[in-house]
Amino acid sequence: MKIISDIQELRDHLRGQNRASFVPTMGNLHEGHLSLMRLARQHGDPVVASIFVNRLQFGPGEDFDSYPRTMQADIDKLEKEGVYILFAPTERELYPQPQEYRVDPPQQLGDILEGEFRPGFFKGVCTVVLKLLSCVQPKVAVFGKKDYQQLMIIRQMARQFALPVDIIPGETIRAEDGLALSSRNSYLSIEERTEAPHLQRLLNEVRNQVLELGDRNMAALAAIEKRAVAQLAQRGWQPDYIAIRQQSDLVPSHDEALRAGEPLVILTAAKLGQTRLIDNLEI
Ligand code: AMP
Repeated sequence: MKIISDIQELRDHLRGQNRASFVPTMGNLHEGHLSLMRLARQHGDPVVASIFVNRLQFGPGEDFDSYPRTMQADIDKLEKEGVYILFAPTERELYPQPQEYRVDPPQQLGDILEGEFRPGFFKGVCTVVLKLLSCVQPKVAVFGKKDYQQLMIIRQMARQFALPVDIIPGETIRAEDGLALSSRNSYLSIEERTEAPHLQRLLNEVRNQVLELGDRNMAALAAIEKRAVAQLAQRGWQPDYIAIRQQSDLVPSHDEALRAGEPLVILTAAKLGQTRLIDNLEI
C-alpha cells in the first residue's frame, strides 16, 4: 500500500485510473470501516482510503484534540484489506490556507437532527468531502448508513454539483451485543459499555411499536418518540433526539403519507456520560 500525504503525488499515482473507489475516514479503523473497504472493492479498482481528522466539522468543546489517532494500527488493517493507496494529508496540505469557501448544505437537511445539535457540522463534512473527492476523483465513493443523515447530505451534494461519482451506502456493522461500531465507543467506561447496546434495543422497540400501530399517524409517532426519550433519560442517558422520519428527506411524515406506507427511519443521538452515540434503524 502506498501512503501518500501530498495531493500532487496522489494525482500522479492515480493518473489514467478511471475506476477508482474511495472510502474517506477519520481513522481509528474498526470492522465498520473495513466493511466499507470491501464494498468499495466490489465497485471499483483500485481502492483508495483516506484518513483525515477534519477540524472543520468539530464544534468548540467537541473532541477534536482527543479524537483517537491510531495511524500505525490503521495502516496494518488497510494493508490486510488490499487497499492500494492511503491518502493521509496533513492539515497544511489539505488546507494550505484557511478554508474560506464552504459547502453549505440546505437548512432543511443540514440544520435538523445532527445539524441542530452540532451546528456547522455538515458544512464541515461537505466541505472536506468535496475537497477529498476532488483530490481522488474516484468513480465511486462509499459512506456508511451508520451516519444516515451524512450519507443523504453527501448524495444530494453529489447530485446538485453533478459530481462524477456514485455514492454507495454501506450497512452498519455492530458488535455482537448490537452496539454500532464507532471510534467514539473507546471513550466508554466498562459500565457505560454494558449499557450502550440499549440504544439499539430501544430502536428495535420503537420499530416494533410503529409496526404494531393500528393507524399510523403523526400523533401516534410523536407519542412513541416521547416515551422512548423518557425511557432513555430514566436509564441515565442524555438524549438529544429520537426521531421517526421519512427515509426520503428526513422530515416528519404527514398522516396521509404515513397511511399510504411512507418508508420511515428512526434516528437517535444520546449521550452516555461524556460520550455521544448515534444510531438509526430503517422501518
Ligand atoms: P468516520 O471515520 O467516523 O468519519 O467514518 C468513516 C466512514 O465509516 C463513514 O462513512 C461512516 O458512516 C462509516 N462508518 C462508521 N461506523 C460504521 C459502522 N459501524 N458500520 C459501517 N460503516 C461505518
